[in-house]
Amino acid sequence: MDKIVIEELRIFARHGVFEFENEQGQYFYVNAVLYTDTEKAGMLDELECSTDYGSVCALIEKVMTENTYKLIETAAQSVAEAILLSFGLVRKVDIEIRKPEAPIKQEFGSVSVRISRGWHDAVIALGSNMGDSRKYIEEAVRKISENRYIRDVRCSGLIVTKPYGYTEQADFLNGALICRTMYSPHALLHFMQETELEADRRREIHWGPRTLDLDLIFYDGEIISDAELTVPHPDMKNRLFVLGPIKEIAPYYWHPVYGRTVAQLYAELEDND
Ligand code: ADP
Ligand code: MG
Repeated sequence: MDKIVIEELRIFARHGVFEFENEQGQYFYVNAVLYTDTEKAGMLDELECSTDYGSVCALIEKVMTENTYKLIETAAQSVAEAILLSFGLVRKVDIEIRKPEAPIKQEFGSVSVRISRGWHDAVIALGSNMGDSRKYIEEAVRKISENRYIRDVRCSGLIVTKPYGYTEQADFLNGALICRTMYSPHALLHFMQETELEADRRREIHWGPRTLDLDLIFYDGEIISDAELTVPHPDMKNRLFVLGPIKEIAPYYWHPVYGRTVAQLYAELEDND
């Protein structure tokens, strides 16, 4: 991907853990790499087709000077978020904030924090079989759509399906959505779990009745497996009620483990059933 690079933007600001830092202030230096597509701007020579680095510098200065953070980690996070939210052509940013006058006793050149943030594709499966299922799912989609770290939400239609695993329970309503998110996979899962809890969800019987179930199916093409999170979701290939709605909104999404598209996985499972 193309890059627009800003180096050593000098900004007087007041971030620091110590009170004297907040009162006196000091110089910070910001490096930013914006990952974007400059091809159209390059061909047409029009600023509107690109990201105006002057405006980016002004925004960085605004975020750095209008806030007082204890940590340069927080300053870097806020700068990254502001750029991703304000400049639609920027897919990813690397931000480094240097603090050469940091209060450290030893002699040193500089200390800095470097972070990368960007927009990622995520596919979330939605399910409910308790209470007013349609309302719980619609409420969840609304909450997800209104989150500032999530954009471009596209939702499938909702389908009624028979329970899976523990079958002595009411029919389910199932759907899926695809979106772009600035969250990491784990932060997205935590937001999904918070949304489940707000829908009166209690964690009781595994595969048992629930007001709302939100499962992270895909996150870009990433493969994740730890104590908290498995992505792509391990059971999706056995579940027509997951594959069906995803096929409607993203039939060519590539499963990085099975090496097949969602449409192919759906067709294979339908043949086997
Ligand atoms: P299920 O969705 O399998 O019926 P739960 O919704 O009760 O079960 O989820 C149980 C646990 O699954 C959660 O605590 C969560 O940490 C874990 N988990 C692992 N991978 C995922 C994923 N991709 N999406 C959602 N939860 C996941
Ligand atoms: Mg779940």
